[in-house]
Amino acid sequence: MNIFETIDKTEHEEVVFCHNKDVGLKAIIAIHNTVLGPALGGLRMWPYKTEQEALNDVLRLSRGMTYKAAVSGLNLGGGKSIIIGDPKTDKSEELFRAFGRFMDSLGGRYITAEDVGIDVNDMEYVFQETDNVVGVHQMHGGSGDPSPFTAFGTYQGIKASLEKKYGNQEVGNYTYAVQGVGHVGFELVKLLRADGAKVFVTDINQEAVNQCVEELGCEAVGLDEIYDVDAEVYVPCALGATVNDETLERLKCDIICGSANNQLAEERHGNELEKRGMIYAPDYAVNAGGLMNVSIELEGYNRERAMRMTRNIYYNIKKIYDIAERDGIASWQAADRMGEERIQTMGRVKLPYMNQRKVNFSGRTKSGNS
Ligand code: NAD
Repeated sequence: MNIFETIDKTEHEEVVFCHNKDVGLKAIIAIHNTVLGPALGGLRMWPYKTEQEALNDVLRLSRGMTYKAAVSGLNLGGGKSIIIGDPKTDKSEELFRAFGRFMDSLGGRYITAEDVGIDVNDMEYVFQETDNVVGVHQMHGGSGDPSPFTAFGTYQGIKASLEKKYGNQEVGNYTYAVQGVGHVGFELVKLLRADGAKVFVTDINQEAVNQCVEELGCEAVGLDEIYDVDAEVYVPCALGATVNDETLERLKCDIICGSANNQLAEERHGNELEKRGMIYAPDYAVNAGGLMNVSIELEGYNRERAMRMTRNIYYNIKKIYDIAERDGIASWQAADRMGEERIQTMGRVKLPYMNQRKVNFSGRTKSGNS
């Protein structure tokens, strides 16, 4: 494995390998970009088969966080961390506290949160060693379950997409095909039904489907049938890569807007949607409500403020569609461009200040020849 070449390609600022033999810690912290602020992104625990696989994953995920924070208007950069291990058998207090110590040594350049394989109890241990943790228990001033915020943000994305396609935001006038009614999907369906929309749902969890039918008045369809439903909006809230060669031939919708990560199997599928006149709301901009919510913890959590910030997803998605039109590109590309433009612009605002020479109290510069 050529580590520096791999890191070069993804343009990371800093990658930290954390090792503590005594407690069995093997972890990687990847800081992709901190132009907008400290890097924020979750900690994942996973039994990676190889170290290369672990490195690739943390580099990919941390880069994604840079774009997500940037398009969401947050003063945060992108980072992520992974612990190599099996979350079912390899967790211990000492493991997470050792990880917390490594984190603390970064002086706040990286802030962590829960991700796959990590729960709130693990985070409590990390929190004992460093303040740079969000998504801690509500008892400690944490923000609690992010799903209602992610759902509300997705609802805003739907409104912006309806506006783009039909020139109105009358959610109740349209039909929705929701795939996955777990934490986010169920909350979103509640919002859609409250507006009087017709909603088809599917899920591998039959109980969740029954709840939607009985309590919210949705119509259930089979797992595979969801792609053939006659609905204006397809709402993926379960899996990634559901927009692919096969489903593209089946989807009859005008709009794709849901909370699932990595909805496009490949970028070319986003271009294909564009060609077919279908509107795609880029996933990482749509599902940023959860990130916005935890980010509020950094300034003292306030639920109302988190809700207000999440409402901005409507404007973020609109802006992405405007950039797509301005530059004649697909919406997935426009989202990336919007993130890159913000980082560049803010970098210009910050750089003159950052480049100032530091002056000590006696008025002499600490470095340089002048
Ligand atoms: P969840 O696990 O609570 O819900 C996912 C649901 O999808 C479950 O009910 C599951 O049974 C169902 N499902 C799985 N495979 C399916 C299939 N083949 N067909 C139909 N349904 C299937 O997860 P969640 O927290 O609701 O998140 C939903 C999606 O949104 C995920 O892709 C997640 O990565 C993304 N997301 C969530 C948040 C958040 O705040 N929870 C934030 C950003 C992104």
